[in-house]
Amino acid sequence: VAEPGWVAVEEFLSAVVVHPDPAHQRALRSAVEAGMPPIEVAPNAGKLLRMLVQLSGARRILEIGTLAGFSTIWMAQGLPEDGRLVTCEYLPMHAHVARANVDAAGIGHKVEIRLGAALDSLPTLVDYVARHGAFDFVFIDADKENDSNYLDWAIRLGRPGTVIVMDNVIWDGAILEPERDMINAPGIVSALEMMGKDPRLDATAIQTVGAKGWDGFALARVL
Ligand code: SAM
Repeated sequence: VAEPGWVAVEEFLSAVVVHPDPAHQRALRSAVEAGMPPIEVAPNAGKLLRMLVQLSGARRILEIGTLAGFSTIWMAQGLPEDGRLVTCEYLPMHAHVARANVDAAGIGHKVEIRLGAALDSLPTLVDYVARHGAFDFVFIDADKENDSNYLDWAIRLGRPGTVIVMDNVIWDGAILEPERDMINAPGIVSALEMMGKDPRLDATAIQTVGAKGWDGFALARVL
């Protein structure tokens, strides 16, 4: 079966427009070598995250779901020198590989990895916010089952104007056929519904195709 045209187009866009650097390549390679699933954002999405960080002038970023630190590196590169990124990961092996990757990328001093289930780590960040200030930018990319819980935490740890990006909101169309994934699809749908009706948020959602198939992301702003 021929590969869909959008796979070649994504490679073309990555090579001609996006230009991933050696630190990004290293993170991708290390994930494969460590046997991690290839579920990091695509390079063009990573670059979009970096540009959103830059455009919003974010100084403090919260990430939920680290894997090998690929999206972490893109976002931390968009921070000023004194900016900080806290990322939550519950698998020690992933946190270990990500630590090596962010250090090798030269942005390790900006990155703190919180090991543990995100729903245990997030309440501890109330104190972090009290000391350092609210998160300006939040990237949600962990277990989709908990997306609406993570969205609620993003609002609580943010401030009016905080930008929230939630990945994988289309899930190959399973959001409209939840029987295909009874755990993740309903979690995504609840979060999308919350984005659409929670008075603390203004939001949109975008479908994408690429090497990783049919998916998309939601973008919200805390009001
Ligand atoms: N953001 C990464 C990137 O684009 O490079 C990809 C993250 S991957 C999709 C999801 C990660 O979240 C995995 O490393 C997984 O171990 C972690 N994870 C899943 N459930 C979690 C939970 N409840 N708490 C913390 N981390 C979790």
